[in-house]
Amino acid sequence: MDEFGGYTERDLDRIAVAQQAARLADRLRGLVGGHGHERSAQEWLSELIGPVLADADRLGELGRGYAHARGLSWAEIGAATGVDPGAARAAWEARPAGPLDDPAAAVAELDHWYMRTVWLDMHAALDTAPLGGRLDAARPGTDPSCLICRKYAGGVVPLWAGRAEPPGRHLLDDPLWRVGHGPAIFSPLGTLLIESKRHYLDYAEMTAEELATYPVLLARLMPVIKRVTGAERVHVFSNMDGAAHFHTWLLPRRPDQVRGRRFLTTPGWCLEPDAAAVIERMRELLAADGQG
Ligand SMILES: [Zn+2]
Repeated sequence: MDEFGGYTERDLDRIAVAQQAARLADRLRGLVGGHGHERSAQEWLSELIGPVLADADRLGELGRGYAHARGLSWAEIGAATGVDPGAARAAWEARPAGPLDDPAAAVAELDHWYMRTVWLDMHAALDTAPLGGRLDAARPGTDPSCLICRKYAGGVVPLWAGRAEPPGRHLLDDPLWRVGHGPAIFSPLGTLLIESKRHYLDYAEMTAEELATYPVLLARLMPVIKRVTGAERVHVFSNMDGAAHFHTWLLPRRPDQVRGRRFLTTPGWCLEPDAAAVIERMRELLAADGQG
């Protein structure tokens, strides 16, 4: 409807609020950890806390501008915020110039920012357009809601859903299955994640070929996991609550770790370079196994 690709004025103001909020959140993170007594008291006030307060003030201005674009008068905004209406209006009129060059790109980046910061919130993870889907210029999301299908279609998924290329690349990738290291943030070193290529829920929907090859896959992977990780047991875990798409976790339980079901409550995590190295070692063992 205009040069902004369908984005209304209140959309643009909402996007500006989101951009400022993401900037502020990133800055606030630096006040939680990473800095301590080694920074001088003056540096804390001027370099660490000062910019946060300035960003927060700016967020207030942008929020009042968004309210104005939605039809509130400056008097109503003043009553809602305690800010002098004249000052609120003056701050808004003095805002830095210009609409966004590319609102769609900004929205995509903000949707990505939001998804990156989603932890184990399933409702949020299934929302493929947390900002973009709530604007007047909303376009229906084209990404699959299934996190596994979305990941391989190039869509944005939370960190815990992994990436289309897992650490060290997939260990196996055939017409029926993908096997790779589990997302490092969520998996102890040496964890393998089996994912079906097709989208289906569970064993009841497997083809004869899938039913025949799945146990063979487990039988090949179990000894390799034990050999590389020194695990005494491999916990096989599959519930499809996170994604209604068949997948199985194979978690190595090492001799010094708690045994039984309690292991699954805190299995641990690892670093991606270590995971990639473990996958490389597993690849060598599987290759040797194939030749033997
Ligand atoms: Zn799927």
